[in-house]
Amino acid sequence: MDADEFRKAGHALIDWIAQYRETLEERRVMSAVRPGEIRARLPAQPPEQGGGAGELIALIERDVLPGITHWNHPAFFAYFPSNTSYASILGDLVCAGLGAQGMSWQTSPAATEVEQVMMDWLRQLLGLSTAWSGVIHDTASTATLCALLCAREQASGLAQAGPGLQAGRPPLVVYGSAQAHSSVEKAATLAGFGRAHVRLIETDARFALRPDALGEAIERDAAAGLVPCAVIATAGTTATTAFDPIAAIADLAAARGMWLHVDAAMAGTAMVVPEMRALWDGVERADSLVLNPHKWMGPGFDLTAYFCRDPQHLIRVMGTNPHYLRTQQDGDVANFRDWHIQLGRRFRALKLWFHLLDEGAEALRARLRRDLENARWLGARVAEAAADGWELIAPVALQTVCLRHAPPGLSAEALNEHNLAIARRINDGGRAYLTPTVVGGVQILRVSIGAERTERRHVEALWEALQAASQAAAPGA
Ligand code: PLP
Repeated sequence: MDADEFRKAGHALIDWIAQYRETLEERRVMSAVRPGEIRARLPAQPPEQGGGAGELIALIERDVLPGITHWNHPAFFAYFPSNTSYASILGDLVCAGLGAQGMSWQTSPAATEVEQVMMDWLRQLLGLSTAWSGVIHDTASTATLCALLCAREQASGLAQAGPGLQAGRPPLVVYGSAQAHSSVEKAATLAGFGRAHVRLIETDARFALRPDALGEAIERDAAAGLVPCAVIATAGTTATTAFDPIAAIADLAAARGMWLHVDAAMAGTAMVVPEMRALWDGVERADSLVLNPHKWMGPGFDLTAYFCRDPQHLIRVMGTNPHYLRTQQDGDVANFRDWHIQLGRRFRALKLWFHLLDEGAEALRARLRRDLENARWLGARVAEAAADGWELIAPVALQTVCLRHAPPGLSAEALNEHNLAIARRINDGGRAYLTPTVVGGVQILRVSIGAERTERRHVEALWEALQAASQAAAPGA
């Protein structure tokens, strides 16, 4: 492909993306393909001759789109929002066009310095103090792994530089709630703590970690000769967006010199709205914090923000210094390769920059408030319909509504099957997409509101569809 062909294909693709976005609402939300169907459409061997890029759009339409679940569809209520604004798409395009590596300051000074400014803009948007330093990671899972590696090295006096965890010292223990994301347990096991030293502490009726149970677990472990090392507080759990009481957890962590990591992957974005910040009261006492702007904020996947209080400790744990990476500026600049696990890094800050330039803080706050209000509206409808068997399973803390339909006279098993049947009707119908999941042992329907294009009318349509599906799925209907 030469420059002229690139221009032609590129302009056509931009038009195609705009047209795709404009027609999203007409498409079925969840892909209906069967396993293997897309794979079977593609040739099994790579082309021997090139020149096929002229057909890109036809190929996407024919072989890819049927296998796409439309995360930016206004009736996408599953998992979490994955907003990717037009401006963010352009930022990613420039990133790809530049094809620059930002592993060291010198390998592209702008990649480091734009990122530093963006992380500081983000810090301000979230209302965090200047004590935090931020860096872009790919996902919350790897950021939490970094946090636990830092915790491990703090507790072990940088044991990684010597015998690591193999020196026969007392085991280090990690704590989180029973509602913590699976990435917490995964990070703890990958970081070598061992599943036997991960404590998933029980939660209260609102699905938030119980500090009394955490305190007891810490004391029990300490009395048994183990070393309480780190606690992960979740600000906005995956299932119900419950908020662990960070201030109370920080007291317990401080009393034992433990590392406190806050996982605000989804809910961190809500803190752009000042009236939501009470929900993470105590966050300033954490050692590290992760949030995913790539969920609700607008810059597309992947863009995770990792904030820490002591970047020097992070660099001690993550840093490498082979000769070929050394530069004359090393003493004066940030080399972000030393702020996370991987070496090479894309210029991800561009898409956050472009997004914030385009949307601005005021419109961002208004959009988040719209989504919060839409969730409260749906929560109120569900609560009002109690006489028809509808139940809210958790308080509507944020933009996620957890509900179920529980008509009287059904066994627990039949209720679970009934709610799964409702979810299947909604999702297979193609007009909306939500997540069936299990919370507190019961099958529920989880509605996550926050796609950029979701307006009240889409939430109203979902509520109508839920009620219709509950009738159609009723046993004996
Ligand atoms: N933490 C929480 C609370 C989450 O809800 C999620 C994903 O939804 C994650 C972590 C993992 O996010 P990622 O895909 O960025 O690793």
